Amino acid sequence: MKKFYLGMETIRITQNYDGKTSHYNHSHGTPADYPIDMAGADGGQSCYFAPVDMKITAIKGVGSSTTNTVWLVSTEEVKTPTFIDKVFMSLTHWNDNAMKWKVGDIVKAGEVITWEGTDGASGNHLHVCFGRGYSDNWVKNSKGSWVDTGDNKKPQEVAYIYDKFSKTVDTCGINFEHTDNIDYDNFLPPRGYYQKGDSGENVEKIDDFYMTKVRGNYFGEYTYWCVKAFQHINHLEEDGNIGAITLGKMKEQGLNKNVRLPERGWFTKGDSSDDVAIIDNFLCEKVKGNYYGDYTENCTKALQTIGKQDGVYDDAIDGCFGAKTLKTAEYYGFHY
Ligand SMILES: [Zn+2]
Repeated sequence: MKKFYLGMETIRITQNYDGKTSHYNHSHGTPADYPIDMAGADGGQSCYFAPVDMKITAIKGVGSSTTNTVWLVSTEEVKTPTFIDKVFMSLTHWNDNAMKWKVGDIVKAGEVITWEGTDGASGNHLHVCFGRGYSDNWVKNSKGSWVDTGDNKKPQEVAYIYDKFSKTVDTCGINFEHTDNIDYDNFLPPRGYYQKGDSGENVEKIDDFYMTKVRGNYFGEYTYWCVKAFQHINHLEEDGNIGAITLGKMKEQGLNKNVRLPERGWFTKGDSSDDVAIIDNFLCEKVKGNYYGDYTENCTKALQTIGKQDGVYDDAIDGCFGAKTLKTAEYYGFHY
């Protein structure tokens, strides 16, 4: 499966979807769409490439006063920063002579869809909208703007910036996710999962993700499983609670000496305090790295446990990071 990304070699956005120039009523009406104006390398006419195979579903405006617009839908499901599904895209303002495709054509990945133009615009650019699923038309919204039909999404929810293809000059304040690898299925190793003993760049990405889950001032599932990893490594009773012995061992290894046990005599799941925040930071340092050791394995168990509780993971709580676990991690915000 491929990732979906912005199809211009220079990313220079001159108006975001909240732009007061002409986009505000698009994104603040009902229904809404979320256009960006892409102006390419300079004031000239840069082209827009298909990032994946896309089918032309509609072309409007050629030879008429209607602003030229083409709609395309990916021929297969793609990976976006927020979902996996087919996606659509519309490109507006290209000139009449810049459309060689017809409805039903498939534009292959890497082929030029069209070029920036001035049809219905004062300067060369493309007005670009994105969404999930299918679209081939406009509808007038409550603020009088013509917006795409379908499940319109913000551009950063649908498209990555592919750093090996695009040079980013200006995103007009939009936080896009960047990637240097558009082959989504390449994340897992050939055997199909990561397990204890593995290492490398992708394991580091997993660990970075887990650190964001451990950090905080709350003793939740991640803290619990990290404490168990700490106890396992240090040959202590693996109950996942922090009593005097576990706390003492943590202090030997650099935990702030001022951390005090609560009145009950131990920290446990559900606790929340400044001291828990210090412990979580200490555990984060243990998780950190590019090695799939006891901490990574147990963080995976935390992820799988939470996924099971939330009904998004239905496999074993085994600490192995395979396709189902990857999907679960993505559900909770993991990106790579
Ligand atoms: Zn525009």
